[in-house]
Amino acid sequence: MQSPFKGRRATARYRGCMQRGRCDCGGVSFELDGELRDVYNCHCVRCRRITGHHMAATAVRPNQVTFTADATLRWYDPVPSVHYGFCGTCGSTMFWKADGDPDKLCVSAGTLDQPTGLRTTKAWWVSEAADYHERPSGVLEFPVED
Ligand SMILES: [Zn+2]
Ligand SMILES: [Zn+2]
Repeated sequence: MQSPFKGRRATARYRGCMQRGRCDCGGVSFELDGELRDVYNCHCVRCRRITGHHMAATAVRPNQVTFTADATLRWYDPVPSVHYGFCGTCGSTMFWKADGDPDKLCVSAGTLDQPTGLRTTKAWWVSEAADYHERPSGVLEFPVED
């Protein structure tokens, strides 16, 4: 199967299978079918405040997602073109998407059932990372985005 990100994300590694995830209360649960992108961390101020630390997300195409529950899924739009998906009951930060990249849905890696088999390979917006956070070595860092 050809990677849906081939060419655009040539440096990323993928692994494929069915992966399940959910928020803590179960009001939102989903299955991801097919290949998942590596986990990228985003340390931008917005992701820091919204997640309480930093975003750590894999990514899929929207059609790889099947919701098995979405009754409590809510979206927060800090600007009209950017959307964070979260559970309105338990508060889990679950998704991120931008209108400018409609083929990509970022999924918070921490919402996935273990083991994920994923690895973290990039960190974005380290220029805005919190001062208390010691970032791991071995992750390719970018001051803003790559
Ligand atoms: Zn929940
Ligand atoms: Zn961010």
